[in-house]
Amino acid sequence: MLTDIEIAQQAELLPIRNIAEKIEIQEDDLEYYGKYKAKLSEALFKKLERKPNGKLILVTAVNPTPAGEGKTTVSVGLAQAMTRLGKKTMLALREPSLGPVFGIKGGAAGGGYSQVLPMEDINLHFTGDMHAITAANNLLCAMIDNHMQQGNQLQIDQRRILFKRCMDMNDRALRYTVVGMGGKTNGVPREDSFQITVASEIMAILCLASDLADLKERIGNILVAYNTRNEPVFARDLGAQGAMTALLKDALKPNLVQTLEQTPAFIHGGPFANIAHGCNSLRATKLALKLGDYCVTEAGFGSDLGAEKFFDIKCRFGKLKPACVVLVATIRAMKYNGGVKKEDLTKENLWALEKGMVNLQTHIENMHKFHLPVVVAINRFYSDTEEEIALMQNFCKKMGVDCALCEVFAKGGKGGLELAKRVCETIDMCSEAESEFRPLYDEMLPIKEKIRIIATEIYRADDVVYTAQAEKAIKEIEGLGFGNIPVCIAKTQYSLSDNPALLGKPKHFSITVRDLRLSSGAGFVVALTGDIMTMPGLPKEPAALRIDCDNNGCITGLF
Ligand code: ADP
Ligand code: MG
Repeated sequence: MLTDIEIAQQAELLPIRNIAEKIEIQEDDLEYYGKYKAKLSEALFKKLERKPNGKLILVTAVNPTPAGEGKTTVSVGLAQAMTRLGKKTMLALREPSLGPVFGIKGGAAGGGYSQVLPMEDINLHFTGDMHAITAANNLLCAMIDNHMQQGNQLQIDQRRILFKRCMDMNDRALRYTVVGMGGKTNGVPREDSFQITVASEIMAILCLASDLADLKERIGNILVAYNTRNEPVFARDLGAQGAMTALLKDALKPNLVQTLEQTPAFIHGGPFANIAHGCNSLRATKLALKLGDYCVTEAGFGSDLGAEKFFDIKCRFGKLKPACVVLVATIRAMKYNGGVKKEDLTKENLWALEKGMVNLQTHIENMHKFHLPVVVAINRFYSDTEEEIALMQNFCKKMGVDCALCEVFAKGGKGGLELAKRVCETIDMCSEAESEFRPLYDEMLPIKEKIRIIATEIYRADDVVYTAQAEKAIKEIEGLGFGNIPVCIAKTQYSLSDNPALLGKPKHFSITVRDLRLSSGAGFVVALTGDIMTMPGLPKEPAALRIDCDNNGCITGLF
């Protein structure tokens, strides 16, 4: 079989104008970025305001192996298959970050015959949104440091500056830095640190903002530091929100592209799924729901992280009512959860598969807690045996859950027809009654109570333990009046617990909350469990070593 990039480069793309025509977007509302990419005008949102919404389908997954279980690939394949069934379907996905592209994981434009195009552009600079976010973020940093340099009227305490510089690259050398060195004219010396752009609060804000006015207000609300009297300093106190919004004006517009089978797709915004909420922009999802009868979207990592945040943060803020959950499960992830080592995942092992399936069961039960129907998509890999597939199908049958074998990686939309039919049937059955979706907790509850509900209901922990630092942070955040917003738990993606080594369905454990951070602009409180990396590093053999560009500008090695 060809590599992802070879398949992508052999594809014939339609001019983006023709893709837009399929969803009745007039040329007037397209802002072209070359032939195959366009942003959509602000005016289009107004025009479509009264149009009824399509049905929202969330693609999520079990706890993954380190290689990823194929949520993006299945999302693209499902949308292609639904298009084949004659359903007017749109995709809404995240923009890849350059860090993983050059690191271990690679790009995020799908795989095999289920990809979004042009994959090189999407995985590299695309329409410049990441750069705009980086610039807006660093403008705020420059204004903080300049404020201190110019007399520090707000009396910012240089030891308590919370807002960090960012860059969209895996660069561990920037995790801890010192800025302002070199004497009086070169700034106030202080410790600083960088995080990757997708971990920045600006990215989270861009993905939750409803329009430019809301974007500006949220930026103004970012807690940037404390002053020497221990009072909060917000971005609006520095007057930064106007200029930052100017930098982000175009980045706020969703990007339209196409899949390998010419299904229209929005690729817009890409916050991390641990430190932030991990799904594409609310505006792209909302627009997709106006333009299609169905919108397929993805949330990062397993359902314990991505789907929970999608429901409790994004759907709550955006008043979205999903219609159906597609839970991607792979035989290899189940074997991994059953204790098989990474190197042995391609060998048949029915015993480990059966043992690991408890992980799938827990994710299914968890999704039902949001009152949503679930369809399991078995994302087929070459190494899966017939016996293994049958075992998994029988398991779903016993649980009374719909399940479909999905071969979209190898066959594109054709390989996803069974899944597409199941999903459409499920939605049709439920659509008589309005979606019964409900978030898991009431946001007005105290912070600890919200965390307890997520930890016990979703992670299945016995209880939650707080460090002294976490206790102090909760008091501080509630004292500032931000106790009644959703919580975003930063946790490992490999386990339901906060320990990546505990696979399957861990029992008798507690979750330790180490510290909390207020993202008052985005509108959530981040609870940190374990060591959460906000600036990844490159591995010993980074993907960058295999990426090249020939004299004609043809790129190889992206995946
Ligand atoms: P996720 O969105 O869950 O992180 P992706 O869809 O990005 O996962 O897939 C992760 C990697 O696995 C990609 O490189 C993709 O091409 C590959 N992949 C996904 N599904 C399959 C499959 N069925 N067979 C082989 N490779 C696959
Ligand atoms: Mg993905």
